[in-house]
Amino acid sequence: MRKESYEFPLEEFISREEFKKIKKFSRDKETPFLIMDLRKIELMFDEIIGHMPFAKIHYAVKANPLDEVVLSLKNKGSNFDVATVYELDQLLRLGVEPERISYGNTIKKEKDIVYAFEKGVRLFVTDSESDLKKLSKYAPGSRVFFRILTESDGADWPLSRKFGAHPDLIYKMILKAEKLGLEPYGLSFHVGSQQRDIGQWDSAIAKCKYLFEAAASKGIKLKMINLGGGFPAKYLSPTNDLETYAREIYRFLSEDFGDELPEILIEPGRSLTGDAGIIVSEVVMVSKKARFNQYRWVFLDIGKFGGLIETLDECIKYPIYCEKKGCAEEVILAGPTCDSMDILYEDHKYSFPHTLKEGNRVYIFTTGAYTMSYSSVNFNGFPPLKAYVI
Ligand SMILES: *Cc1c(COP(=O)(O)O)cnc(C)c1O
Repeated sequence: MRKESYEFPLEEFISREEFKKIKKFSRDKETPFLIMDLRKIELMFDEIIGHMPFAKIHYAVKANPLDEVVLSLKNKGSNFDVATVYELDQLLRLGVEPERISYGNTIKKEKDIVYAFEKGVRLFVTDSESDLKKLSKYAPGSRVFFRILTESDGADWPLSRKFGAHPDLIYKMILKAEKLGLEPYGLSFHVGSQQRDIGQWDSAIAKCKYLFEAAASKGIKLKMINLGGGFPAKYLSPTNDLETYAREIYRFLSEDFGDELPEILIEPGRSLTGDAGIIVSEVVMVSKKARFNQYRWVFLDIGKFGGLIETLDECIKYPIYCEKKGCAEEVILAGPTCDSMDILYEDHKYSFPHTLKEGNRVYIFTTGAYTMSYSSVNFNGFPPLKAYVI
């Protein structure tokens, strides 16, 4: 079993210099915790704008709602997409103007709409007649965009099925929205998070084109397409780079809309914040289940309930690094809670040095998105994931 020596392509995820700083910063802190590097988020913001100058960014706050993250994106000129009145309150508290905020959840109570409208939000998504009626009553005159159902094939963390409606239904809603005194403004979709198949945008954009024409034939001019999220962060499973996404998506848009593109919005969450986070965790225990079992179990002090819920079905494979030297040994990785679902990776075997033992630290890269916002409040008494900002 033990042959090759343990290796990890550290420099694909962080420079040696930066890693030294991270180690120094973390030395006296108790694990587990997340470190967010704001500079990396700002660079990523610039990179996205650079590759997609035709798009307006509405950051999906749920990916990482830290005040500091929101503020640095606010200062970069980003707009924001919220899912709840709680996220809305946070943004307003941080001084984000309501004109920069879209309400991107198709599932809302009447009183949520009342509240958002009262606070000045005028851009809402919808995907049902029921919600549309509520919007017409409680957010009269607002701009609405309609979410199209997509399949999410090819996404590591699928988002569809629950959201969106078939184009035929959307068409009816567009006509109805106008009758109800709303402004049918545009269309949206989400091709699934960490979408590795760029072609998914092609078919979704084609549906938009069809609906733009159908609406135009009734004298309604839609103005906007919201391309959603789905852009990649850097995990173990390879993806194309952002430049390729941008180029291909621009090509799909031009093929359907020619030179006169509608207003384009994107709602990146994962791609903006994912790469900017590192979780530092400690090995709690290493054990074997039976004397002749092939694999050792390595239990970390963070698991599914501490912020790594996207390891469900091993969907997201985080790069995990341990500094020790030794032979590469495949192990089963699990979290610290008393729930047997709290196993991180069993099918996909992670390799660690055979010398790995209790008390050693591991560094989990690309954990800036969907970790602390997903960590449980008090399961087994574990506190929610701590976050530091550098
Ligand atoms: C979660 C979400 C996003 C962000 O998606 P990523 O794949 O993380 O970029 C964007 N839009 C909506 C409506 C969402 O729910």
